[in-house]
Amino acid sequence: MKIFHKAAELKNYLKDVRNSSVSIGFVPTMGALHQGHVSLFEAAKRENEVTVGSIFVNPLQFNNATDLEKYPRKINDDIRVLESTGCDVVFIPENEEMYPAAPVTTMSFGALETVMEGKFRPGHFSGVGIVVSKLFNIVQPHKAYFGQKDLQQFLIIKQMVRDLSFPLQLVCCPTLREEDGLAMSSRNLRIPPEKRPIASEIYKSLLIARDALKSESVENVKTRVKNYMAGFPDLELEYFEIADGETLLPIENISNQKNIALCIAAYLSGIRLIDNILLIS
Ligand code: AMP
Repeated sequence: MKIFHKAAELKNYLKDVRNSSVSIGFVPTMGALHQGHVSLFEAAKRENEVTVGSIFVNPLQFNNATDLEKYPRKINDDIRVLESTGCDVVFIPENEEMYPAAPVTTMSFGALETVMEGKFRPGHFSGVGIVVSKLFNIVQPHKAYFGQKDLQQFLIIKQMVRDLSFPLQLVCCPTLREEDGLAMSSRNLRIPPEKRPIASEIYKSLLIARDALKSESVENVKTRVKNYMAGFPDLELEYFEIADGETLLPIENISNQKNIALCIAAYLSGIRLIDNILLIS
């Protein structure tokens, strides 16, 4: 596996790859890699001749300094994981390489970012849009792989790719979970072991909502989930939304809805965890 720290060197290397007309699959990450990330690399490997990953904890998308500081970093382990997945190239830039000067450009995504992650993490998606655009320009992949775990992020990037005519195809990969249902996340490493079992209640509440929606109104289901989560004093619910699976705007009733997203964010011991499921008919 080739490791690059400088954008110009990576671009130069990939120019030759592109000239030999093989397809490049790209997986951007913030590292502390787990099986969820690995599944994205496996998909990229299946569908492309060359797989490129990136590991960069993007300061621009953190609206909370403590969250940025405490974000897990395990670069040596990550390199081993990527080697074992058969990743061909990894880009690991320093902050100064990505942002020699603080970017002045910002991005906004209209209604899509007025809800959920956009609402509770001001500036987050602008930071995501900037870093993903920069990485797309550096790597110029044919296909880029993202996880459904961050559904709003995927939909925002989809909008951005359409609006800015990035010449690539996006692939959304399913959420990988621990045995008890907890969505895999780099942040799970920060959960104190004695609190870890409670974390699975986040996914359980989504399943409760999914079942309840078969016979109850949207409003009742929202109340049901709030009450359920209130039964776990260690969990602090930030939001639970029943939304249109494409626009992510809240829906009031599910009749005629072909694509429904159940989305949740909660704090456990100060660690912010998110999850979602899609109900597609
Ligand atoms: P991150 O390193 O958290 O920025 O995530 C990098 C990519 O991995 C994003 O596209 C995430 O949506 C995806 N990802 C994170 N967790 C999972 C998971 N449990 N299953 C599938 N994809 C995931």
